[in-house]
Amino acid sequence: MQNNKLDNIKIVLLRTFHPGNIGSAARAMKTMGLNRLVLVNPREFPSDEATKMATSADDVLKNALIVDDLADAIGDCSLVIASTARSRGYDLPILEPEKAARLLTQSACNPTKPQTVALVFGPERTGLINQDLEYATHRVTIPTSPDYSSLNLAAAVQTLSYEIWKARQDQSKRDEATRQLPDAEAMDRFYRHLEITLKETGFINKKHPGEIMKKLKRLFTRAQMDETELNIMRGILSSVERFK
Ligand code: SAH
Repeated sequence: MQNNKLDNIKIVLLRTFHPGNIGSAARAMKTMGLNRLVLVNPREFPSDEATKMATSADDVLKNALIVDDLADAIGDCSLVIASTARSRGYDLPILEPEKAARLLTQSACNPTKPQTVALVFGPERTGLINQDLEYATHRVTIPTSPDYSSLNLAAAVQTLSYEIWKARQDQSKRDEATRQLPDAEAMDRFYRHLEITLKETGFINKKHPGEIMKKLKRLFTRAQMDETELNIMRGILSSVERFK
């Protein structure tokens, strides 16, 4: 299931009472690119009600992992953020939704060392109890009206999933901005290498000497290779030369 960078983020629902909420949470997750659902001791699951509410996110339900306790759900996680409506878990660092999402995506989508992380939601009636919070490294609270701070479970999942989606988009943009592009000389060396190799293989012949290289240059300009990608291309050319 590791085809998507957000797969390293587990959404953990604890002792959910209404199966419909599980389905709505799955839908909320899928719209925001999340698909790793873990259910800790749900009252009723699988359930028609959950499938009905999930609509096209039934694959998230099908792939959901069901475990007996929270320790099993988060054992492999380096970061466990508990979502709480009320100020429980006083000794845990409290995060704004944006900050929580940034922390989660920084670890989960780290290009060199991606880690599994979890965002944990409590049951509808009681919320997370102190015993659950012992596993958490942080907690996050969605700001609300002081008159009524308790969101529906799936609405809380939707809000935080949206923040995760936005944080991931920002992170991708930053990664893109820091990509090292090769300079003109390096590109020129590559084109010469490409031309020599293609002449040696006979792909470029006397009938159309300049045309192919012009077209290939246009193609590689459009591709905007970074330095790593350019090195891969040079490596491919060298392997062709060794092959003959
Ligand atoms: N009656 C419970 C609320 C349960 S709502 C209580 O007062 O604690 C179910 C779950 O949705 C909560 O356990 C929490 O994980 C999430 N949730 C609801 N409102 C939230 C809020 N304002 N901020 C963060 N999480 C919230």
